[in-house]
Amino acid sequence: MSAGAQPQLRFRDRGLAEKILEGIKGLGVKATIMHVCGTHQDTIMRFGLDPLLRGCGIRVVSGPGCPVCVTTQREYEEAGLLMERGKIIATFGDAARVRGPRGSLLDRRAEGGDIRVVYSIRDAAEIARRLGREVVFLAIGFETTAPGTASLLLSDPPEGFSILCCHRYIPPVLDAILGMGEVRIQGFIQPGHVSTIIGVKPYEFISSKYGIPQVIAGFEPLDVLAAIYMLAKQIRDGRAEVENEYTRAVRYEGNQKALEAIDQVFEPIDVPWRGFPLVPKSGMALREKFEAYDARKVYEDELSDIVALEISEDPNCRCGEVLRGVAEPEDCPLFGTACNPAHPRGPCMVSIEGACFISYRYGPGARAGDPQKA
Ligand code: SF4
Ligand code: SF4
Repeated sequence: MSAGAQPQLRFRDRGLAEKILEGIKGLGVKATIMHVCGTHQDTIMRFGLDPLLRGCGIRVVSGPGCPVCVTTQREYEEAGLLMERGKIIATFGDAARVRGPRGSLLDRRAEGGDIRVVYSIRDAAEIARRLGREVVFLAIGFETTAPGTASLLLSDPPEGFSILCCHRYIPPVLDAILGMGEVRIQGFIQPGHVSTIIGVKPYEFISSKYGIPQVIAGFEPLDVLAAIYMLAKQIRDGRAEVENEYTRAVRYEGNQKALEAIDQVFEPIDVPWRGFPLVPKSGMALREKFEAYDARKVYEDELSDIVALEISEDPNCRCGEVLRGVAEPEDCPLFGTACNPAHPRGPCMVSIEGACFISYRYGPGARAGDPQKA
C-alpha cells in the first residue's frame, strides 16, 4: 500500500477482486455456502458479488445472522407486556419496529406505552438514572453485544434498571442447522465481529462433527471473496478446518476480557430462535447473582400472563425459512409487495441486517434502478 492509501479502498480493489473470482472459478467447485452475519449479506449484495459468485459455481445463502430477526415474537411480546404495565422499554431502533400480532413496540406507543430507542445499554441505564423510573432494556444480540451488557451489569446499574435478556451464542445454532439436516451446505463463512470476541476455537467442533469447512471473514468485498476462495479450496482438497481470513481483528483465543465478562454474568440455557425449535445451550440467561437486574425475575408475576399465551407469527411470512437458509427472500410471496421496508411484515424486512431488507435494497431490481425500490 502506498503511503496515505486508505486500507478500506485496498479491500475494495476491483482488479484484485476479479483475480480472486478467477481463482474461485479455476477451482471448479460447485457449492452452497452459508454466512451467519447480516453485514456479510450486505457486502455480497451491495457490491454485486452474488451473480459473480454464482457464475463461479458458488451460491451463498443467509443463515440466522441477524440478532433482530432471530429474537422470537414471544420475546418481543414480553417487552410489549411490560410496556403496557407502565415500564419504560429501551431498545435498538430495528427491534422496536418488528411487527407482532398487535403491531410493533413503536406502534404500541399509541396505546400509551413508553418506548425509547437507544444506541447502547448505557443510554438505557442513563434514562433510568435521570428519570428515576423503571426501565427495561430489551437486550438482543450475539457475543458481540453481550460483553457491553455484561460490563454494565458489573458496574453498578441504577435503581429500577433491568434487562430482558435475549442474547444468544452463535456456535450452537450452527450445530442445530447442520443437525436438522434440512439445508445442504458445503461451508460456513463465519461472522467477523462475533469472532473477534469468541476467537477460532468455538467453531472447531462443527468441522470435526460434520466434516464441514469454515472460514472467519471480515466485512470488505475482498474479505468475503478471499474467504470464499479459502472455502472452495478446502472443499476441493477434501479438508474440513476452521481458517481465519480476518486475522487483522480475530485472534485464535478471542478477546479474553470480553469472554470473562460474558461468563461472569451469563449462563447458557436452551432457547428457541425465530424459525427454529429449542436450540440447546444457545441462550444467555443472567446468573442468579444478577437476578435483581433480570426483568423476567423482577416482573415474574406480570410476565406470567404471557407464559400460557399462544403467540402466533404471521402465517404468510417466511422469515423462519429464510433464517434457516431453506428459502431466499424472493421466495416469499409477500416480498416487495405486501412486505417492503416502509411496511415490513416480518423482521427480515425490518432490520438493516435482515436478508429481505438487503435483497430489497440491493437486489437485481434495485440495481436496475427500479423506482419502487429504496
Ligand atoms: S453483530 Fe456483527 S457479526 Fe453479528 S450479525 Fe451483526 S454485523 Fe454480523
Ligand atoms: S418478505 Fe417479509 S414476510 Fe416475507 S420472509 Fe421476508 S420479511 Fe418475512
